[in-house]
Amino acid sequence: MGILQVQNVNKSFGGLKALNNVNLDITEGTVHAVIGPNGAGKSTLLNVCVGRLVPDTGAVLFNGRPLTGRSPHEINQMGVARVFQTPEIFADLSLLENVVIPTLAVRDGSFTVNAWGRVDNQAEIRDRAEAILESVGLAEKRHHHSGNLSRGDKRRLELAMCLVQEPKLVLLDEPTAGMSRADTNATIDLLARMQEEHGVTKIIIEHDMHVVFSLADRVTVMAQGTPIVEGTPNEIKGDPRVQEAYLGG
Ligand code: ADP
Ligand code: MG
Repeated sequence: MGILQVQNVNKSFGGLKALNNVNLDITEGTVHAVIGPNGAGKSTLLNVCVGRLVPDTGAVLFNGRPLTGRSPHEINQMGVARVFQTPEIFADLSLLENVVIPTLAVRDGSFTVNAWGRVDNQAEIRDRAEAILESVGLAEKRHHHSGNLSRGDKRRLELAMCLVQEPKLVLLDEPTAGMSRADTNATIDLLARMQEEHGVTKIIIEHDMHVVFSLADRVTVMAQGTPIVEGTPNEIKGDPRVQEAYLGG
């Protein structure tokens, strides 16, 4: 049984069926890419998995435990972390503060400005946050304002905010969207290294096939709310159904 199972999930927005009977089984320790044309339902699927959206029918199981019906925060506390399509960082805070916040949020339920003063192991948390910033290549900028970072650096910061939670499953929605080729390659290297060092299961929504081929063990292709093909990157590459989905989408 996989670490994450999506079972017969349906989700409509008004008359639009964004997810149409989706089934997915993610093997622990793998990088699983979800690709497909715009509007295929990829982000909706991710949002259902992290509790941002409630499916109309069906269930999502994490290590056999239902996620459906739990709040995003509860799901986060269970060990599921995510990186959204648009970076969500605190622009007015330093990089270091941004990395410390998720630690407190996971631990205490929500972050308030007063929370830090009550933390008993401040030094330990700060050390860990610094080590993680180091591992994503942002150590020197740790006291900078996060709002001034380049897009690539914001992505790296988001990954650090995700890693500091020591998640068991990470979901990333288009981690290289809008990046330059150089930043994309740096992100690939970072994710590949994360995979070697931590082996955390990852679901990556991605449109850049170069990223998919560099990182994914398995690929699910979605079209019009339904997974249509699953296989290794090489298996799906020449599949006429995949080409058709993109041309028809
Ligand atoms: P993808 O990430 O694959 O591009 P999405 O999951 O974002 O696709 O969207 C799937 C479909 O659902 C699209 O047609 C989109 O317009 C629609 N959709 C997504 N979110 C909403 C929403 N909150 N309200 C209404 N329609 C939505
Ligand atoms: Mg999307």
